Amino acid sequence: MKACILRAPAPIAASPLEYTNVATPQPGAGEVLIRVQYCGVCRTDLHVVEGELPPRKSPVIPGHQVVGVIEKLGARAQRFSVGARVGVAWLHRTDGTCEYCRSGAENLCDHPEFTGYTVDGGYAEHVVAPEDFVYAIPEAFVDEQAAPLLCAGIIGFRCLRLAGIKSGGRLGLYGFGAAAHVAIQVARHWNVEVFASTRDTRHQRLALELGAAWAGDTLAEPPKKLDAAIIFAPAGEIVPAALKALRKGGTLVLGGIHMSPIPSFDYDLLYQERVIRSVANNTRKDGEEFLRIAAEIPIRTQVETFELRDANIALRKLKEDAIRGAAVLEIG
Ligand SMILES: [Zn+2]
Ligand SMILES: [Zn+2]
Repeated sequence: MKACILRAPAPIAASPLEYTNVATPQPGAGEVLIRVQYCGVCRTDLHVVEGELPPRKSPVIPGHQVVGVIEKLGARAQRFSVGARVGVAWLHRTDGTCEYCRSGAENLCDHPEFTGYTVDGGYAEHVVAPEDFVYAIPEAFVDEQAAPLLCAGIIGFRCLRLAGIKSGGRLGLYGFGAAAHVAIQVARHWNVEVFASTRDTRHQRLALELGAAWAGDTLAEPPKKLDAAIIFAPAGEIVPAALKALRKGGTLVLGGIHMSPIPSFDYDLLYQERVIRSVANNTRKDGEEFLRIAAEIPIRTQVETFELRDANIALRKLKEDAIRGAAVLEIG
């Protein structure tokens, strides 16, 4: 099959992904083989490709927002039929036995596997995944629109929940890429007022089109104090600015898997019971709930599609903030 493989991390400007032929994987017990139609491009893929996340498998096929069709069932796999349309997300598998898995926090599993990082992902014509970690895709979405829901959407949804934002509240979104452009639609559906802070003026315009009450530069202070804020951009210097925008008792959620160092700041910015917390991965329950709500709203993702062979270009544009909405590879 055709795939984009990463042999060694390198700056994206050096086009480290190699478009080549590799053996088609075969599903093991409890697994399914999926023919990939589309795979979303996520900032985490950029962190894998550029080595901000330490290599865990080499070579590796990145990609963890897969929409495709089940082509073959492994032994004992029975949850889906051949031909079913499904999605694969970042959480590839957990051990199911550690204290986190047993207490409903499988996103924090001690021995997790991650799609497109510790195992091969969806920048390829086929991918294998355990059937228990595969999602049914609601009919409301066409394939390319569904792909960005599988990470940007699900993680953004978990960020919203952990931010504790309620109807009538005020929410800040820092960075306005794939995750924020979905999260704002959920927030507006919940009647939350949204303030978008992003360095790119095209992204500011998109935020306003999607219902933001205000959009400004990343470090500009929003016109009202916020009940909660989510930082999607991987830049630690945003943390003090976002804390400054929070009202007393407000919550700041850090939505990324990687962030540059956070500068020191005065305790005053945190005092008055403000909270900073990160979000790590997601549970399957998050994913299922989000996909149901996304279909009800319904969420409309804006996507820019690229051919599989152009994955390096898609990642470069993502790094340069040049994608409006989400980048998606068209594979099938
Ligand atoms: Zn576990
Ligand atoms: Zn992702």
